[in-house]
Amino acid sequence: MSLLRHTLPELTELLGSRARALALLRWAWDGAPGALPERLPGVSHRVLDPLRERLTLPAPRLHARAPSSDGTVKVALDFDGALVESVLIPAKGRSTVCVSSQSGCTRSCRFCATATLGFRRHLKAEEMVAQVRLARAEASAGAPVRGVVFMGMGEPFDNLDEVLRAVALLTQAPAPQLRAESVTVSTSGVLPGLERFLAESQASLALSLNGTTDAQRTALMPHNKTWPIDALLGALRRNAVREPRREHFIEYIVFDGVNDSPDDAERLVALLDGIPARINVIPFNPVAGLPYRAPTEASVLAFQAQVVARGRLCLVRWPRGREVAAACGQLALTG
Ligand code: SAH
Repeated sequence: MSLLRHTLPELTELLGSRARALALLRWAWDGAPGALPERLPGVSHRVLDPLRERLTLPAPRLHARAPSSDGTVKVALDFDGALVESVLIPAKGRSTVCVSSQSGCTRSCRFCATATLGFRRHLKAEEMVAQVRLARAEASAGAPVRGVVFMGMGEPFDNLDEVLRAVALLTQAPAPQLRAESVTVSTSGVLPGLERFLAESQASLALSLNGTTDAQRTALMPHNKTWPIDALLGALRRNAVREPRREHFIEYIVFDGVNDSPDDAERLVALLDGIPARINVIPFNPVAGLPYRAPTEASVLAFQAQVVARGRLCLVRWPRGREVAAACGQLALTG
């Protein structure tokens, strides 16, 4: 069993002491992968030796590594035959890691490169956490990993138990101790998972809305038929009563000529009435073989300006790592 799977309370129980559990976890995050070390300060042989068989620190095989000129590094990792990609995104003074929760994806969004792979398997929590562990080693000292976004391959809310465990592991002491708000789980709109996540986790939520009418959204994201816009936003509105200060992210891909009209901008603002949320506009990243077109920069800026003029916070996520197919929606084990 991987050491990276265990939470501090679980290890404390297993080892009969919180101090020992902390020592083991410190090693899990900073030690070299493989077997448990010969000696561990604060943990006696009597305790450590029987664990050697049961606990290891497996490392995924690095299948490919693609640095981009803008500093983004995409890696393809092999977890016992399941390939996934994750992306290290450095910024000023801090880095963010974009991790995968599945190999392939259980959903079939029409615009997403990952969907073309189909579904291979769910990742275990320790496999999600291992992506962060590797990225921490890759990040430069001047820009350590401070944020994690579950925006790589996969639909996190179709694998929610493991994702919740991963969030707990990423936010716990002694490492990596990320702030819950700095861990963002992005969903394509799986309503039962979304409701459970809001009730059980304090991590940030991103909802990929991508359309302003059900007809438009269903054409892009077929499971909108099951969980339409009203149902998803209704859940966020109800949660705002319980947690008025909890702010969400609404992801909105702009496709040329599909959802980029002034009417769309108006509807988007109206739909979010009563929901504490900021909008992230993502210009569509082209995927070979798909019929959608990237918007012009001018039309993205006009869309953003219209939303901002109506009083809604709205940022544009200009693509990073496009040249190595590491940008949003381009993770398909190519490049
Ligand atoms: N399944 C989850 C997480 C992975 S996708 C979800 O859908 O939220 C992460 C983000 O990339 C989502 O907001 C998605 O809408 C966006 N995305 C997918 N394909 C894209 C593309 N080709 N161009 C730009 N953004 C894309």
